[in-house]
Amino acid sequence: MGGQPSVAIIGAGIAGLTCGTALKGMVERVVVYEKNVFPGGRITRFRAGGHEFSHGAQYFTVSNPLFWNIVSGWQSDGIVRPWDGWIVELNKGQISNSDMASQRFVGVPRMQMVAENLARHCELVTSANISELERQPEGGWRLFNERGEYLGAYDIVIIATAAHQVADLCRSVPTIAKAANRVDMTVCWSGMFAFERRLNLPYDAAHVLESPLSWISRSQVSQPASEADCWVLHASPEWSQKYAASFRGRVMHALLDAFWSATDIAPSKPLSSSVHCWKHAVPINPIGEDSLFVESEALGACGDWCTAPRIEGAVLSGFSMADRIMKFINKQGEARSPA
Ligand SMILES: Cc1cc2nc3c(=O)[nH]c(=O)nc-3n(C[C@H](O)[C@H](O)[C@H](O)COP(=O)(O)OP(=O)(O)OC[C@H]3O[C@@H](n4cnc5c(N)ncnc54)[C@H](O)[C@@H]3O)c2cc1C
Repeated sequence: MGGQPSVAIIGAGIAGLTCGTALKGMVERVVVYEKNVFPGGRITRFRAGGHEFSHGAQYFTVSNPLFWNIVSGWQSDGIVRPWDGWIVELNKGQISNSDMASQRFVGVPRMQMVAENLARHCELVTSANISELERQPEGGWRLFNERGEYLGAYDIVIIATAAHQVADLCRSVPTIAKAANRVDMTVCWSGMFAFERRLNLPYDAAHVLESPLSWISRSQVSQPASEADCWVLHASPEWSQKYAASFRGRVMHALLDAFWSATDIAPSKPLSSSVHCWKHAVPINPIGEDSLFVESEALGACGDWCTAPRIEGAVLSGFSMADRIMKFINKQGEARSPA
């Protein structure tokens, strides 16, 4: 590796984009590859019947001082806002408790905005499903997509996907593959329903008890084209796991039935109904390291599965990854410079 290295990041979720943004201008080139058509990963949006939903992460909380600084910047730029929705605990229509946890934030106008904003600062290649990494004898890596097409060669590669995808791509680097392989992730069926009129529910969101559902939330995404009342429902990990392979139609009806039981209001026909199965929703047992990097291979990995199962964890892991790369580059530079 002579001069400033080039870096490829696989995955334009919040971890990969944070890493890419932090490295911009510090390396010769940093390119983020994303298999989806837009960035965001588990904070992307879902559109159905003219309505829009944030169907993955609903909001985020902040505890780390570094993350507070970042979020303050996002807030000043109008990318996020505090969410002071009324969140309750719900048991068959009975509100048992108000949830007064720490301050929550949501993206404006949708969670995905946080990723879209970071992506503006990155060289992003979408619809690029990286399937093979080939180590070069002279150092660095060549990237190929699922059709075997060559996409480029880079000095350093960072895999910023969910844990199971890291394990697949890192087969030749056991330190990272083994760590990623140990991580289990929950399954989550997400239901998205739009109703013509506002439902008679006084709260904005609820943790649901004794139900196939664990969370229901009035969509925080503004629906400019209609007055519709849009709700996102998340099934519990146990229920989602049990019905992971079920037909979408069956799941849709089950989630809607569970919604009426949990809220105890009269059922009405939705204007639009959709479901999505997050097969790798959140890590159950993150590895407890901010990020992983094997210097001899110039290969690293980051994501919420390293740190903590939330947006804050993903951002901090992405930052840690960028920091390790900079330290590695500086070390290489010192080794090359004459004494
Ligand atoms: C249903 C649900 C609810 C949640 N609720 C909350 C919440 O309320 N608050 C909170 O803070 N967090 C929540 N989370 C967790 C939060 O969304 C994640 O912790 C965070 O978004 C993870 O970011 P990441 O960058 O680590 O991974 P991801 O967002 O998964 O990003 C990985 C990216 O890599 C891409 N990719 C994968 N393989 C390849 C490949 N081979 N080639 C190219 N690209 C690839 C993927 O398409 C994806 O865009 C929730 C998650 C889910 C699913």
